[in-house]
Amino acid sequence: MTITKEFSGGSSPIQLTPKDFKGLADPDWCAGCGDFGVLNALQRSCAEMNISPHSILTVSGIGCSSNFPGYFNSYGMHTLHGRSLAVAAGAKLANHELTVIVTGGDGDGYGIGGNHFTHTARRNIDITYLVMNNQIYGLTTGQISPTSSVGMRTKSTPFGSVETPLNPLTSAIMNGATFVARGYSGDPRHLSDIMKQAISHTGFSLIDILSPCVTFNHDNDHSFFKQRVHKLEEEGHDTSDWKAACESAMQWGDKIYTGVFYQREGALTLEQQEPVLRDDGPLSGRAGSLTEDQGSKIINALM
Ligand code: SF4
Ligand code: MG
Repeated sequence: MTITKEFSGGSSPIQLTPKDFKGLADPDWCAGCGDFGVLNALQRSCAEMNISPHSILTVSGIGCSSNFPGYFNSYGMHTLHGRSLAVAAGAKLANHELTVIVTGGDGDGYGIGGNHFTHTARRNIDITYLVMNNQIYGLTTGQISPTSSVGMRTKSTPFGSVETPLNPLTSAIMNGATFVARGYSGDPRHLSDIMKQAISHTGFSLIDILSPCVTFNHDNDHSFFKQRVHKLEEEGHDTSDWKAACESAMQWGDKIYTGVFYQREGALTLEQQEPVLRDDGPLSGRAGSLTEDQGSKIINALM
């Protein structure tokens, strides 16, 4: 795969390996949690793209998967429930030379943070959003989330959910996202290929990742997905065709597609259009930015 995006100042002078992206803490996820596959895939992707850890910022909200920045070696921010995209947008606009990757779950991103999901997509801010979608609230021990299937029995729906699930892919496409994909944590190599394309894409990219919660969602486990997952690229899908992308995204049942559904290249990002951000480089590097001393005082006040 050819990586065309240039990482100004972000490329490592030596070839990195996945181990270089191992964080200081070990994951405390349950054995078999799908999120392990996502962590492995991102470590592999960043190593193969040779992006220096210091030029990456990972941002998360709250939830099992939102512990991700602690397990991944880069700058990281573990923020408020549903607010990861807002924080990431601020960071990207202040320093658009950063590679900004947002990690979180379906409840955090599509429920509590649903408004930020819509508006970050339509603004086409150059952020990669990885949503570990397990169709349940895992950290709070198993309640329905915005993507739970109709009929799903949980602690909060003992007679089965009656709510229509949100479709993250069609939502993102219709709201203006310029790269929309789905991956499966049980196939980390394929997921890593999608991640490299998403990070290389200039503009807002979403990867909705089927990432089973083996503890609280026994309906949508690995045996459910292994029988159903099909790669969209093997069906001759045209990623520039948004109608075909929506039709494939609405397919859920015996066949569930993974791969890149939609990509619109050449659309300007917010930071490329806004004259204040576009013309003189990142705000973070300009004269008049905070001094180190001022920055430390603010950080200390917030701690
Ligand atoms: Fe993963 Fe579910 Fe365990 Fe959370 S509760 S760590 S989502 S398996
Ligand atoms: Mg969840």
